[in-house]
Amino acid sequence: MKTVKDYIRTIPDFPHEGIMFRDVTTLFSDPRGMRLAIDQMLAPYVGTRIDKVVGLEARGFILGGAVAHQLSVGFVPVRKKGKLPGKVISQDYSLEYGQATVEMHTDAIEAGEKILVVDDLLATGGTAEAGITLIERLGGEIVSCSFVVDLPELGGRKKLAGLGYDVHCLCD
Ligand code: 5GP
Repeated sequence: MKTVKDYIRTIPDFPHEGIMFRDVTTLFSDPRGMRLAIDQMLAPYVGTRIDKVVGLEARGFILGGAVAHQLSVGFVPVRKKGKLPGKVISQDYSLEYGQATVEMHTDAIEAGEKILVVDDLLATGGTAEAGITLIERLGGEIVSCSFVVDLPELGGRKKLAGLGYDVHCLCD
């Protein structure tokens, strides 16, 4: 039987020379692959209170929307700067070259809500950490962070675990 990893393809030299890009569109486009990924993302949280799923732009929207639907909870997007129409809070974070900013609507999360963070891939953990910071600034409590792929050599999982966050990844 195929595993989640079998549905993911690697595209060399994207978006820059020397980068091996893990492309999850082939996982998303296969009905068995998509079902398998969502089922496995949900499995650790059976019986756990989750009030909202927060998805990180952009592939975290696809996975997070499906996970939120299955949990019958709301979905909140963390978006790149300038995309959200309402009042936002912003968080800067470091990229390999330079900086980026993510935003969330100020009324998207209420203090005390239990939050599951979802994205497709964990590399350095910078994107997830910025999303977590936004959630915590609004008083949300992180239940866990769920990713399809972990790139262990980039240290994101260790970083988030070191900060005390629960992390689940379907494959390395
Ligand atoms: P980090 O902030 O952990 O260094 O990078 C993770 C973010 O970059 C995620 O939002 C993820 O979507 C994106 N990303 C970085 N490298 C890859 C890759 O090889 N494949 C995919 N699908 N996303 C990547």
